[in-house]
Amino acid sequence: MPIDPTQPYDPSNIFARILRGEIPCKKVFEDEFALAFHDIAPQAAVHVLVIPKAAYVSWDDFSAHAPTDTIAGFVRAVGTVARELGLVEPGYRLLANVGADGGQEVPHLHVHLFGGQPLGRMVAGG
Ligand code: AMP
Repeated sequence: MPIDPTQPYDPSNIFARILRGEIPCKKVFEDEFALAFHDIAPQAAVHVLVIPKAAYVSWDDFSAHAPTDTIAGFVRAVGTVARELGLVEPGYRLLANVGADGGQEVPHLHVHLFGGQPLGRMVAGG
């Protein structure tokens, strides 16, 4: 079910529960700004989710309302994860779904990091 990105942050969402340690994840990186873990249903050889530790519903909410140091810390963390996974030289793709047309299902900002194989077309048809 796509989420409505205009709704207030819901602290019961699954990524908030992962951040609180209530649900396990396959962690690949953590710092003061971000947590990165393997997607439970990978769609590429490498499919990692990077989420801010702060509570923002979507890229829209985050870009509009997060403090500058929080945004900078998160963006740097995404880059660090890709670098630590050895994806810079072969290349990778970042994706942040927002709302219904974007297909966003979890109402806590997450950036998908795909790699480990040629990724094909930028946007799937259909
Ligand atoms: P989106 O459609 O952009 O909201 O993506 C949500 C992603 O979260 C999907 O790729 C799911 O496979 C993934 N996901 C859902 N629950 C979990 C979980 N418990 N651990 C890791 N990934 C999850």
